[in-house]
Amino acid sequence: MLSWDDTPSVSAMRCSRAWVEIDLDAVHHNVRQFRRLLRPATDLMAVVKADAYGHGAVAIAQTVIAAGATWLGVATVPEGIELRQAGLNAPILVMGALHHAEEVRALARWQLQPTIVTPKQALVFADALSDACLPLPVHIKLDTGMSRLGFDWQRAVEFIEFVDRLPALQITNLYSHFATADELDDREMWRQHERFESAIATLKSHNQLPPRLHLANTAATLSNADALQYDMVRVGLGIYGLAPAPHLKSILNLQPALEVKARITHIKQIPAGAGVSYGHRFVAKCPMTIAVVGIGYADGIPRQLSNQLTVLIGDQRISQIGSITMDQLMLDVSDVNDLAEGDIVTLLGHSNSHQITADDWADRIGTISWEILCGFKHRLPRIMKRNNSQQLYPAEDSLL
Ligand SMILES: *Cc1c(COP(=O)(O)O)cnc(C)c1O
Repeated sequence: MLSWDDTPSVSAMRCSRAWVEIDLDAVHHNVRQFRRLLRPATDLMAVVKADAYGHGAVAIAQTVIAAGATWLGVATVPEGIELRQAGLNAPILVMGALHHAEEVRALARWQLQPTIVTPKQALVFADALSDACLPLPVHIKLDTGMSRLGFDWQRAVEFIEFVDRLPALQITNLYSHFATADELDDREMWRQHERFESAIATLKSHNQLPPRLHLANTAATLSNADALQYDMVRVGLGIYGLAPAPHLKSILNLQPALEVKARITHIKQIPAGAGVSYGHRFVAKCPMTIAVVGIGYADGIPRQLSNQLTVLIGDQRISQIGSITMDQLMLDVSDVNDLAEGDIVTLLGHSNSHQITADDWADRIGTISWEILCGFKHRLPRIMKRNNSQQLYPAEDSLL
């Protein structure tokens, strides 16, 4: 078992408590898997919003581009700027809606591409960019049944004719987004798909069809061969190595890229009848040995997993007990031999014979793996692993 001194090549101080390990080789592998489903001419957009679903946007973006992704997708302008500042020059789509002239000008300055969803928003863009010498490439989004961002698909012609009259904007792409592509019952997905096709047909007959089309997220890329015929797919979850639903697991061989590890900071015996953690939601039935681990809900471990979490120590599955607290949680280690303070616990990840994934947590508490992964956006340092080497992010000196 690893002890305090064995943390390979990374700062013992930074990783004294808990950290995330990102396997960039797994991300590379996952991108290659998705590329195999696509025709060579089809663009693969890697969706790296929310700091690449908690994996670290810059390192993930560099990895996916090297692996064959050709576009990057983000939700906000600052997310796009972060990638540009890191030197990424692939086309970047901002999928959220923008309404402020300031944001629009920043977007244009950093050569990001916006999603336009209403005529009013198009006018804000046209106004903010009235001095620009080149038109800004824009993606028009239609609402085909998600009822989130997008203009009514039945009025696509009217909308596109409106935007087309604004010289500051050049419509390059038309897209929509599925609400239920991960469901076993695919009827609603196909209803949305037919609406998209119907809008395409009408636009074509008015000679207003944008040159490029895209529709599929991860789930549709895995389940809807027709959506692969458009010009691009937008894959998020899949590049991080998770399938959107159990029935979509066997289509590609995906490898989860994110592992979460923490150290045991304290080991002690407690007597029968002792309550453990806030609210004493666990009470020892007999004398036991418990271990305190330096990770908690502020680090991304959902508190709802209290008393339900299983972790790995070596190759052994161990139960977590009592309420998970902000920075710490407790384990029942009565059956573990040779345990020492400083030993490493794996919360998400694998050992020789076990694997614990974000899906396992999500299933247990009634959420989705996307939300679990995004929980690791903020607090823990990340160790980026590639070709058997590793690097700490953010770099050491940025903290000193
Ligand atoms: C987040 C997002 C995606 C990626 O979704 P996954 O299910 O993670 O593949 C694709 N398209 C849009 C518009 C999104 O907002």
